[in-house]
Amino acid sequence: MRQIFGEKTHEVLQNLKVKFTYIGGYMWIDPTDGSLIISSHYLNEGDKTDIYLDLIHELVHVRQFMEGKKLFDAEYDYADRPTEIEAYQHAVNEARRLGLSDRQICEYLKTEWMTNEDLKKLAKSLNVKCTWQYAQ
Ligand SMILES: [Zn+2]
Repeated sequence: MRQIFGEKTHEVLQNLKVKFTYIGGYMWIDPTDGSLIISSHYLNEGDKTDIYLDLIHELVHVRQFMEGKKLFDAEYDYADRPTEIEAYQHAVNEARRLGLSDRQICEYLKTEWMTNEDLKKLAKSLNVKCTWQYAQ
């Protein structure tokens, strides 16, 4: 937490609004007020490590939102967007701290909205070695 927010950790977590939704998906930032929206289904059924790493990722976006950065900058593809790379970098650092292998981290990074090309690009930016053959 402190790596993401530094001195502001307490203030940010105190003011963070979290909303739960029955809409599917995982978790994301509400672009209108910067609050964190979490799918109840994902929270109940999802893999605990995935949820934890997603939380780290989204908290980086919360900080970026507070700094006035554009989270949904259409100028960039998802895998190239600086705000995404920064968020993933924090999640990957935490995954490594937990002892996840590069292969496990790659599996975590792979999502249904990302193509193999995007995954390769993202993994390269994050210095994660994805060496096995991906099953699409
Ligand atoms: Zn993100």
